[in-house]
Amino acid sequence: MEVSVIGAGVSGLSTGIRLLEAGFEVNILTDKTSPDTVSDTAAAWWYPFLAEPVEKTNRWSAETFDELVRLMQDEGVDCITMRLGREYLEQECESPGWSDDITHFRILDSSEVADGYSYGWEIEAPVIEMPLYMKWLKARFEDLGGTVEIRKVDSIREVDGDIVVNCTGIGARDFCGDESVIPVRGQVIYIEQDPGFGRFDQQPETLTYTIPRRDVTVLGGTAQKGDWETGAREEDTEYILGKCESLWPELDRSKIVGVAVGLRPSRHEVRLQSERVSGRTVVHNYGHGGAGVTLSWGCAEEVVRLVKLSMRT
Ligand SMILES: Cc1cc2nc3c(=O)[nH]c(=O)nc-3n(C[C@H](O)[C@H](O)[C@H](O)COP(=O)(O)OP(=O)(O)OC[C@H]3O[C@@H](n4cnc5c(N)ncnc54)[C@H](O)[C@@H]3O)c2cc1C
Repeated sequence: MEVSVIGAGVSGLSTGIRLLEAGFEVNILTDKTSPDTVSDTAAAWWYPFLAEPVEKTNRWSAETFDELVRLMQDEGVDCITMRLGREYLEQECESPGWSDDITHFRILDSSEVADGYSYGWEIEAPVIEMPLYMKWLKARFEDLGGTVEIRKVDSIREVDGDIVVNCTGIGARDFCGDESVIPVRGQVIYIEQDPGFGRFDQQPETLTYTIPRRDVTVLGGTAQKGDWETGAREEDTEYILGKCESLWPELDRSKIVGVAVGLRPSRHEVRLQSERVSGRTVVHNYGHGGAGVTLSWGCAEEVVRLVKLSMRT
């Protein structure tokens, strides 16, 4: 049975791999590949952020957490590392629903909370070097027999295959006319300095993070709704640096080596559902907001379940 996957971001490649493993023939059609996808700009820290509905994203996140740890430990995928990170909050609140699903979660002692905050927690989670991980995903996909065709697809009718899987991210606005997908612009800065542990304020209005990867630390961020600008802005760079310095006063601006911008494909909820279009099953898998990497394997597995279910009905 032939499946056409539209899109070669983290969602399309992970989904393609799971479909090949399940025995399908898979062709990816995409207008852009790494390093030119939004997925390449992901920081990328495992953390459910700006993605709904929570009861589903918690499950998909937990499944992805386990798979990332397995890839790192059992398959030696060395662009994934486990790092400690501390999230700071303005007031005490309930622990997130996913806190029981990960290997290390603890509430911070008040002496460990950064100035200006009153509460927080520490987690250990996978950090992924996206430029390398995207290459690894594509190689794994091709090793399993998948093919990639570079072209823009304007409508589902143009696509061959018994089943179509839509992983177009922000492109879903044009591809299937879904105007509820909107860009939430993120600018990040790369610095060759390690903060020891990651520091986070994940509230969209005050969003601040320092994510220590093996190659660089990623400083963020911005979450600008409806903003389509893909070039970096000097005022955003200043804004991000000011926020990061308040959490990490030792930050050394002379070690900055780059800036990047990506448009998060935000939606009121991830669209992961199947429908019949002109007698064929189409499974949608887009709208992952600020958590596409965090949700990737869980969503890919859900796509396979929906594809198999559609074959029985
Ligand atoms: C600054 C920033 C930091 C982030 N940090 C994190 C993080 O730490 N952790 C995390 O989990 N997530 C993070 N994210 C979010 C994450 O990057 C996204 O949720 C994720 O990349 C979405 O992946 P995707 O594959 O769905 O979309 P994309 O990566 O955008 O891929 C879509 C694909 O579809 C193709 N396409 C679209 N339309 C068509 C068409 N008509 N025809 C053919 N091909 C088409 C595109 O070319 C592309 O290949 C961050 C995002 C940004 C911007």
